[in-house]
Amino acid sequence: MPLLSYVHQLFSAEQCQAYIHTLRWKDRPLQCPRCQSRDVDPWGTYHYRPGCQRYRCHGCKRTFNDLTDTLLHRSKRSLPYWILATFLLCLSCSSRRIARELGVHGRTSYRWCWWLRNAAVSSEMHRQLEGTVEADDLYHTAGHKGQATHGGKKSLGRRARGRRKKREPGRGHYDKDRPAIIAWVSRQGAVVLHTTKDCTVKTVQKAADLAMQAGNRLYTDSASSYRAVQGYLHEYVNHTQKEYARGDVHENRAECLFSLLKPSLRVFRGMSKTTLPGSVGFFQFLRNFRQHNACEQAEFILWAALDPTIANRAKKGDFVKCFDHFDLLQMAIN
Ligand SMILES: [Zn+2]
Repeated sequence: MPLLSYVHQLFSAEQCQAYIHTLRWKDRPLQCPRCQSRDVDPWGTYHYRPGCQRYRCHGCKRTFNDLTDTLLHRSKRSLPYWILATFLLCLSCSSRRIARELGVHGRTSYRWCWWLRNAAVSSEMHRQLEGTVEADDLYHTAGHKGQATHGGKKSLGRRARGRRKKREPGRGHYDKDRPAIIAWVSRQGAVVLHTTKDCTVKTVQKAADLAMQAGNRLYTDSASSYRAVQGYLHEYVNHTQKEYARGDVHENRAECLFSLLKPSLRVFRGMSKTTLPGSVGFFQFLRNFRQHNACEQAEFILWAALDPTIANRAKKGDFVKCFDHFDLLQMAIN
């Protein structure tokens, strides 16, 4: 029996509506989402949606309410479903788990999860690290999980991964189904994660410039891509010589971050290359908001989801588009 059927007595639709109303207009001016005019007046309520306030815009002569043009707009499910789904997402539940708990269809929860994750990632777009930064890279196995667009089984185009030999030796690459994840961890606490096709000098330099300001102190291992990075006070430890820390110089925080990232990706039981950047981005969000509990994290995501501009871009997946999202990010920053 779905979780919502146990707890739905605790949720009053009116209270949820009031909560969403507060979040919608918190830190935002009351204006028409269509023509941005602030010349608006209350315009009655809905008999089928208790507590939902309707407004009329004098600019475009149309009406709108708290949900117009947000992620929750035109949803057939009521607000308790959305609030609970966001809460469960912050507890790192998979979309299938959320579908089971809420009693909605798997495809519905899959779509919601991605919209909400994208809304969460919107706040991480411009994050730049300060202070001493540690960096490390990881190659994560990600293939072509998911059904073919025309339904049925999708052909792999390669031999299935055996139980024994899971991957080729050496560094990973997008084309070898092992894209790279580069972690930048500030000793002040914030993290930035980049999902990239490879880990070459060019990629690392681009990623470093996005993750932090020039002149920062940077500690890494002795990989050649890091040694070639310019513009930072760079020092490294040599793992091949069994050197893991030299005084203040070490990258243990970056390695620790990967030990947290790996089990969080395990929840999905195999990743697709198309969804890896999004999942890693959402992990970055959860990590940077780790001082808050799941309710507060969910509140932040809902706040972002209630912004028409963010909602529109989140639906299109603008914030996490592809592996070479550097150019996209650069455009967003400029
Ligand atoms: Zn208007």
